[in-house]
Amino acid sequence: MDISNSFIFTFKMGDNFKLYGTLGLSRGASQDEIKRAYKKLAFEFHPDKNKGNAEAEAKFKEISNAYNILSDENEKAKYDSLGDNNYNGSGSCGSGGPNPNFRGHQDIFEAFFRGRGGPFGGHFDDDFQDNFFGFGMGGAGGPGGHGGPKKCPSIEKTLVLSLEEVYEGVNKNMTISLRKYCHNCNKTCNKCDGRGVIQQMRNLGILQQIFQGPCDKCQGSGTIIEPKQSCKECNGQGVYSKDQNATLIIPPGVDENYKSVFPDMGEQPKTANQKPGDLFLNIKIEEHKQFVRKGNDLHYKCDISFVDSVVGKDISIQYFKETININTKIFGVLAHGKKYLIEGKGMPIINTGNKGNMYVEFNVNYPKIKGDASNKVDDLRKLLEEVFI
Ligand SMILES: [Zn+2]
Ligand SMILES: [Zn+2]
Repeated sequence: MDISNSFIFTFKMGDNFKLYGTLGLSRGASQDEIKRAYKKLAFEFHPDKNKGNAEAEAKFKEISNAYNILSDENEKAKYDSLGDNNYNGSGSCGSGGPNPNFRGHQDIFEAFFRGRGGPFGGHFDDDFQDNFFGFGMGGAGGPGGHGGPKKCPSIEKTLVLSLEEVYEGVNKNMTISLRKYCHNCNKTCNKCDGRGVIQQMRNLGILQQIFQGPCDKCQGSGTIIEPKQSCKECNGQGVYSKDQNATLIIPPGVDENYKSVFPDMGEQPKTANQKPGDLFLNIKIEEHKQFVRKGNDLHYKCDISFVDSVVGKDISIQYFKETININTKIFGVLAHGKKYLIEGKGMPIINTGNKGNMYVEFNVNYPKIKGDASNKVDDLRKLLEEVFI
């Protein structure tokens, strides 16, 4: 394995996730909660309401920045898996530049509060709007970070895990094959001069209409690949594959809501003024042969005879590497279809060291009374009345 070419990503949840705290939320808050928290705080700390108060302005920028990241599902996923220490906004490895997709603080605020039809499509109660527009807009925040290299699209992939792997936690080694465009063999498209768009004239009777569309020669990328036979980098192919090794550390208890991100391993740039996209890895957990997972709990079904359901039976449940031995007497007389609790034998609860519970549902097989035993039924009834209260 080429060490220089490998890196490790982890779902490690012990890292700091201050952005949530900035909005007064705990990790894993929903988009709804994030939106509500931002709305409340941004209103409170808006510089127009706190004129000359540098502290409020700094706080306003801080909460806007937190909102900016957490309100974007992909950025949120990236942040959730990288934490404060490893997350650097655009996800590029150490460039530290502003993310061109990100808006300035004031931009976000305006988009949020004015945007009835905007990206948030939110409904705000009228008295809130009246209050807010009472003190006007403007002032805080620098210009939005427009310009700079454009990020290529992200790629999504799915990693399938077994429930055993999720229970124990696992390190997954992967080789990700990147399709690189050879920059030696790239040249500026001569049809659009590298702009990626062309203007075309359309005749509409006596009128002429000029419209802009993506360049058909370069598919809007602004460059075309003309492989040089002599090119050593791509062997005259124009594109080449580069394998990147990566290890993903999956902690016990992960569920399908967790996404992991591999910065810069998505779609690769064709030109120098593009940045690589990110690779998002979704998790899919295979169905298990005996347990159904619901949140942190495990549900288990067990067949039992009527007699055993009444008098009790030793059963053993294979709980991953552990065997749980119980006598059903601890639950009393079993009711068909009822779920019985075994505490602390569920899935690990991520980042806590605790576990969920197991629920055992018994499927009782009710028998028929044998034809020649009907004369014993009265004895049985008498006996049962002696045994049970
Ligand atoms: Zn072109
Ligand atoms: Zn080449």
